[in-house]
Amino acid sequence: MSFDIYGNNLQRGHCEVHPNIAEEYPCSLCQSHSQFQSQEADTTCEVQSLQNDLAQSNSYIDSLRAELAKVTAERDEYIKFHTENLTLIAWIARETVSVKIDGNIKARFHFYLAKRDLEQQAKGVDEVLACRELDGLSQGEIHTIMLIANRLRKQAEEL
Ligand SMILES: [Zn+2]
Repeated sequence: MSFDIYGNNLQRGHCEVHPNIAEEYPCSLCQSHSQFQSQEADTTCEVQSLQNDLAQSNSYIDSLRAELAKVTAERDEYIKFHTENLTLIAWIARETVSVKIDGNIKARFHFYLAKRDLEQQAKGVDEVLACRELDGLSQGEIHTIMLIANRLRKQAEEL
């Protein structure tokens, strides 16, 4: 006499896990149960993989949102600056329109300032020359000062 897994007598030709089924172990119920378990494991695996994908997508979307917020803030700041300084920006655009370099208005303005700086220095040297206090200078010294003024003016022109 054999027994089922619950310790009861088992009829010949019956499954020891499912004693009321007249098939030997593993019966068709055993087999379908094991198939179900393996499918369940596969499904769990697939769900986990989808959850990972979703987490990655969410994290990517978060980083895109952060990037968008940053770009939007920069744009707003630019618009604000532009709106508040329209007169100044128009003036710079007008003043630097003849500047030889390409580029944005900021680069043009820097170039314009460099040129103006040299022109102002040349003008300053001219004023030194015109000053009466220089009466004591020799012709050679005056000549040197004039050369400096001309060099500065030439540098400004060549910019
Ligand atoms: Zn069974």
